Amino acid sequence: MGAGVTGTGTAWQLAEQGHSVLIADPLLAQPIPDKPADRDLNGSTASLGVLMGHAFRRSSGRAWRLRQRSMTLWPSWVEQLNHPESPLHLETPLIQLAGSAEEALRMQQLTSTKPNSGLHFIDDDSLEQADPVWPQAGHGAMLSENDGRIDPLKLLQALRRSLVQHNVELRATDVVELQRRSSSHRHHWQLINADGRNEDVDLVVICSALGSTKLLQRLGHQRPMDAVLGQVLELQLNKQAKQWSGWPAVLTCGGINLIPHGQDRLWIGATLEPGVKADSAATETMRRLNGLAPAWLEDSCLLGQWHGLRARPRERPAPLLEELEPGLLLASGHYRNGVLLTPATAEWVGQHINKAMITSS
Ligand SMILES: Cc1cc2nc3c(=O)[nH]c(=O)nc-3n(C[C@H](O)[C@H](O)[C@H](O)COP(=O)(O)OP(=O)(O)OC[C@H]3O[C@@H](n4cnc5c(N)ncnc54)[C@H](O)[C@@H]3O)c2cc1C
Repeated sequence: MGAGVTGTGTAWQLAEQGHSVLIADPLLAQPIPDKPADRDLNGSTASLGVLMGHAFRRSSGRAWRLRQRSMTLWPSWVEQLNHPESPLHLETPLIQLAGSAEEALRMQQLTSTKPNSGLHFIDDDSLEQADPVWPQAGHGAMLSENDGRIDPLKLLQALRRSLVQHNVELRATDVVELQRRSSSHRHHWQLINADGRNEDVDLVVICSALGSTKLLQRLGHQRPMDAVLGQVLELQLNKQAKQWSGWPAVLTCGGINLIPHGQDRLWIGATLEPGVKADSAATETMRRLNGLAPAWLEDSCLLGQWHGLRARPRERPAPLLEELEPGLLLASGHYRNGVLLTPATAEWVGQHINKAMITSS
């Protein structure tokens, strides 16, 4: 259930493993757009696709393990999904500007404790001469060679193409209810669909972000999630950038990502706004980079903007990867890192299903 990046990536991996897969989501009625538009967006189509797996302050624990695993899997995902009809590649590197002396110190400690992770601290004197110049915090920066970005729309297009190739059944409908069914020899599930075509399946994987809570509630599982809205702006520079010389694929400044594209365009995002209503003051603050915006950024003109919702689990760490009962898996609530964590999520689901099949046989 759910054809955002998590559900589509998981469906593809399960089909690759030889399972017979059906994926349901009303958004499957539409093709994946080439550009984000401010309508009918799920979290995935609104996303920036930043993959920040190595530049992570921790070196142990579940969140770190999931990031590490995803970053290991991403190159082979891209290799398998890349196709002339849906070209895909990873854009690297990522540079994170230090906002204070303390942050610079933390970055230096991180780079020295992870010598083989492609992380390097760059002091202010050695910062590259970029055109246009970077916002300058004056405390140096951390370069992550292997972090960067994947275009989320191209990724979704490539995944959709692969689903069709694997004969995955695409059902453009909302699942309105999940019902347990059992006979003398097996337990299974019935999907009650809004299109009236109900479906019996052996196993359900719920990847429907904010849409997961209501369905689970009816089954007696409480997994509340809060919406956190994110806005993105597309800007055009008044002066033409020299092919963004000296710029990384992603520049992060105070938690805001600057992503150059084309000759003179830039995506900037994303805001973190509790709830479902976009606030124009939040985009203004973001555009000014909390006072660090260089003149060329202030002078740029707004070409477009969009927003989407992230699903943040309440009182539980993101993401929610759980087997709630036999044949019912939850892989949702990825909050700010759903694109990054998709390969590790799909692998977790695949391993659970294979384990369940061995146990039941
Ligand atoms: C502006 C913005 C920028 C972001 N930037 C990044 C980033 O740089 N890197 C990163 O890793 N993450 C980023 N994220 C977060 C990331 O987009 C999400 O974590 C991720 O998209 C979650 O994917 P998903 O497939 O779980 O959910 P979604 O993409 O929200 O998809 C859920 C799908 O479930 C469907 N659905 C809901 N209910 C039902 C139902 N009852 N039956 C059938 N289908 C249903 C919906 O129609 C929807 O298509 C960003 C998010 C936003 C909003």
